[in-house]
Amino acid sequence: MARRPRIGVLALQGGVTEHLDLLTGLGADAVRVRTPADLAGLDGIVLPGGESSTIDRLLRMFELAAPLRTLIGGGLPTLATCAGLIILADFLEDPAPGQQTLGLLDITVRRNAFGAQVVSEEATLDTPDGPVRAAFIRAPIVTRVGPGVEVLARHHGQVVGVRTGTVTAVAFHPELTADTTLHQWLLDPRAAGRRQDRAVARRVTDP
Ligand code: GLN
Repeated sequence: MARRPRIGVLALQGGVTEHLDLLTGLGADAVRVRTPADLAGLDGIVLPGGESSTIDRLLRMFELAAPLRTLIGGGLPTLATCAGLIILADFLEDPAPGQQTLGLLDITVRRNAFGAQVVSEEATLDTPDGPVRAAFIRAPIVTRVGPGVEVLARHHGQVVGVRTGTVTAVAFHPELTADTTLHQWLLDPRAAGRRQDRAVARRVTDP
């Protein structure tokens, strides 16, 4: 039998448990990531929702920012939800004081774009993977999508989901509605295949 895919969930702050439960239910070996050592041997990673400026600070404090940037930039399949999307973006319109990002997605993001903290909403979104039941909580929107980044979903006319070869990043929470569509994408061997393709491409083109 094939080895169970080992999927990390960044567990510094925010909504970790729901992701772990969904991934375990899909047959993954789901593990919390709190230190650089926890990144060893992962087949994929989830960057959960929470408060992006807090997660950013903790990422740097726990010396996870640099290894995460290397791994995700090198093609580790990644699912980022809400604050996770903010953490991956190249540009933020309205960062908190001192807030940095990993700068791995050629997008611009506006935080808290749908209103105040209490504002939340559920909706079913059309995506190339099928309908996804989404919960929005102080959700960001994507205000600029660079070349090479695919729009995955819109809500009220705004871009709320994007994808590159190995990264799916959404402004909402699929884990809070227990919708497994995007977690299945993360576990899809083709996501890992894409990573291997990239590794091979790098080996071929490296001097
Ligand atoms: N607005 C939050 C932030 O800026 C994200 C909200 C969420 O993850 N639900 O980090």
